[in-house]
Amino acid sequence: MLKNCDNCGKVFSHPNHKLCPTCSRERKEEFERVRIYLHENKQATLLETAESTGVAIKRVEEFVAEGRLSVLPRDRMRQCRICGAGIGEGQVCRGCQQQLSGGKPPAAKPARDESKSGRIHILDARRERTRD
Ligand SMILES: [Zn+2]
Ligand SMILES: [Zn+2]
Repeated sequence: MLKNCDNCGKVFSHPNHKLCPTCSRERKEEFERVRIYLHENKQATLLETAESTGVAIKRVEEFVAEGRLSVLPRDRMRQCRICGAGIGEGQVCRGCQQQLSGGKPPAAKPARDESKSGRIHILDARRERTRD
């Protein structure tokens, strides 16, 4: 199947790639540069990352959106709502998501205090019934 490269517009043939071989190799190299840079500079912002790696900001944002970077630019970092770990997207990290979907509650849970009032309720109900 022939198609146009998403990046340079060159015609190429591949069943599912959106980029021609040249661009996809270039993109892979850029991704590696960004990934390594962020790994070594964990406090870097998106702009700093783009400037230091020579990769276009738009491209760095694409990498961030793809969710394949383990370390994200500081100003693109989100935090897990449960454990506070840095995550790329969504509201909880993968670990917490697994715990949630597995039905297990997160480690820290407030102590519950409903048992007492519940019991009083039952006693009241029984008294009502015996009176009859
Ligand atoms: Zn191309
Ligand atoms: Zn978490």
